[in-house]
Amino acid sequence: MALVVQKYGGSSVSDAASIKRVAKRIAAAKRAGDDIVVVVSAMGDTTDELIDLAQQITPLPPSREMDILLTAGERISMSLLAMAINNLGVKAKSFTGQQAGVITDAVHGRARIVDVVPHRIRETIERGQVAIVAGFQGVTSDTNDVTTLGRGGSDTTAVALAAGLGADVCEIYTDVDGVFSADPRIVPAARKLDRVSYDEMLELAASGAKVLVLRCVEYARRYGVPVHVRSSFSTHTGTLVTNEPAAEGPEGAAVEQPIIAGVAHDRSEAKITVVGVPDVPGKAARIFQVVAGSGVNIDMIVQNVSAAATGLTDISFTLPATDGATATAALSEHQPDIGFQSLQYDDTIGKLSLIGAGMKSHPGVSAKLFAALSDAGINIEMISTSEIRISVVTRADSLDEAVRAVHTAFELDSDQQEAVVYGGTGR
Ligand code: ADP
Ligand code: ASP
Ligand code: MG
Repeated sequence: MALVVQKYGGSSVSDAASIKRVAKRIAAAKRAGDDIVVVVSAMGDTTDELIDLAQQITPLPPSREMDILLTAGERISMSLLAMAINNLGVKAKSFTGQQAGVITDAVHGRARIVDVVPHRIRETIERGQVAIVAGFQGVTSDTNDVTTLGRGGSDTTAVALAAGLGADVCEIYTDVDGVFSADPRIVPAARKLDRVSYDEMLELAASGAKVLVLRCVEYARRYGVPVHVRSSFSTHTGTLVTNEPAAEGPEGAAVEQPIIAGVAHDRSEAKITVVGVPDVPGKAARIFQVVAGSGVNIDMIVQNVSAAATGLTDISFTLPATDGATATAALSEHQPDIGFQSLQYDDTIGKLSLIGAGMKSHPGVSAKLFAALSDAGINIEMISTSEIRISVVTRADSLDEAVRAVHTAFELDSDQQEAVVYGGTGR
């Protein structure tokens, strides 16, 4: 008998029929003998709809109220799912994040889990019942205010609960059959990965592969939680995220890991160029102090060679587009003391990232990536690298084509038609 935490994403519970379908799956797993704790997301695009609704009331809703509003989405799905399971003759009880003991810091809208004290969940399991937990939410220990964990945060709730309960595995049920070598919505020939290391999954998630949210992978790596990403619409085995070595090959030899795990893309960033910065020590430090002071995280940075005649240079950096207005306002306020000429803002960029642990020890990966993009006629605007990742910025409208070209160039295309997208709107 195992203790399994199962998480169902919004596309798996988008309407009453889907909730009943998921309930059958949970009841069957329970009847097969495992202890089951379920984490559930809001139905379909409910969270986006609630955000749109708040925007119709005010463009800048107070973050505390916004969090209370958004947690309503997961409360609806958790109670409906518990009803559906009870209907099948299996006892199930739903709990909010607070009731489940998910304790967070006080940063509304992107709170971090600081502790998990799942007494009520343990009690429920001990009674032989299924516990259903609302994902994406917690409570601060000091003020008792309700918080949310940031978009996609139900994945983090699931892994944190799995760690807190000492579960054998955390299963993430979604609308594709696992983690693929690229987003199946863009690359129909993407291939399913049987396993992927925490480090590669971290880079994939950080680079826009939203099948798992970044913080959930960080959490899983820290506590060594094995994560099985799979579809709630099929019974196929999915992708195991783990550092455990793969099983031995047919002749007893370890299966060699591929050099490249996959290609990720991200359309959520924007680029700010600070034009005409005096090329003297300390200016870059000032610019990034101002941006950091406004609470904005940046991603890539490029500084141009200064023009000898003017002694001025341009500095470009990327950041989440949702922080564009904040960063631009902060820099404009400090224009006189930094002494730059102007700011350019561009939110029509896309970022492509190639990820693979094998690139550390294999020369020529960057050259092949740049050649693939140039053959496809795609211009590279910025480049950044880590030990196991190369990222480039392109125009947003050539991003899909870039992803497909790079996927093909690295021979990642599958000849089996396995990249099925079962549901969801891709929103
Ligand atoms: P859920 O509602 O279950 O949380 P998400 O929409 O957050 O689902 O994540 C699943 C989606 O992630 C898929 O439908 C797919 O479009 C997208 N995705 C992006 N990159 C990848 C990848 N490398 N492998 C699988 N899915 C990916
Ligand atoms: N409902 C939240 C969102 O849409 C959390 C989640 O689905 O993981 O971001
Ligand atoms: Mg998700």
